[in-house]
Amino acid sequence: MDLITDLEALDRFRMQAGEIVLIPTMGALHAGHGSLIRQGVELAARRGGSCMVWLFVNPTQFNDPADYARYPKTMDADVELCRTLGARAVFAPGKDDIYPPGRVIATPPLPDVATKPGLEDAKRPGHFAGVCQVVMRFFELVQPRCAVFGEKDWQQLQVVRAMTARDRPEIEIVAAPTVREADGLAMSSRNRFLSPEDRVRARALFAALREGAEADTAGAAENVMRRVLEAARVTVEYAVVRDAETLMVPNGYARRSLIAARVGTVRLIDNDAWTPRT
Ligand code: AMP
Repeated sequence: MDLITDLEALDRFRMQAGEIVLIPTMGALHAGHGSLIRQGVELAARRGGSCMVWLFVNPTQFNDPADYARYPKTMDADVELCRTLGARAVFAPGKDDIYPPGRVIATPPLPDVATKPGLEDAKRPGHFAGVCQVVMRFFELVQPRCAVFGEKDWQQLQVVRAMTARDRPEIEIVAAPTVREADGLAMSSRNRFLSPEDRVRARALFAALREGAEADTAGAAENVMRRVLEAARVTVEYAVVRDAETLMVPNGYARRSLIAARVGTVRLIDNDAWTPRT
């Protein structure tokens, strides 16, 4: 496996890689990322190409500088995991490779799903501008055939899908299901910051999604989710049922329940499919 840390090495790799399946991550890899990498390795094998994992903590997508400063870094373990899972390359560039000093790296126009739903877009201003900027930059540098994104970050997945369909329709966006701990908590690099008591309270997110799934209407599901979260003394940012693609108030059939909540000092998000019973 190649560890690529500069753009010249990236160009050399690309010349013999065949079709590249890209797995974008910010490192601090866990089993959730592992399943994306496994999926990427399989896809690449089927196409006679190469799976490349991108490890880059992108400063422009953090709306909170403290969150960026404390974002966990576990580079050696990350590279080892990628090797074990059969990735052909890890691309871990420096900040100056992605954002060369003195050069403006364009932020593409944001699709509606990145600005209108009032979910992550409202709670983390500037976040999707940073995500869209870095994704388009990596697409330009790596020229992948396809990229795998997790359903865990559902709004991000819809944003990337909409932007890619508009600007780089030749690149396929593949979705990977959320990987959970045994008690249902969605795996996240930020879970390590939960105190033991908060780790127990964090189960409320999955419990809320499950109980919301039993409700007859979207409105009832939202009430139930909020009640479950508040009973666990979790601070709710949103607990909603929306259209699965636009993330606006639902009128189509495919729907998604989405939660963002603060558990102690840690902000967690989760989501699940939601089907009306009536
Ligand atoms: P991150 O490093 O947190 O930016 O995540 C990189 C990619 O891994 C994103 O596409 C996430 O949606 C995905 N991901 C993060 N956590 C999980 C999880 N628990 N299950 C599946 N995919 C995940």
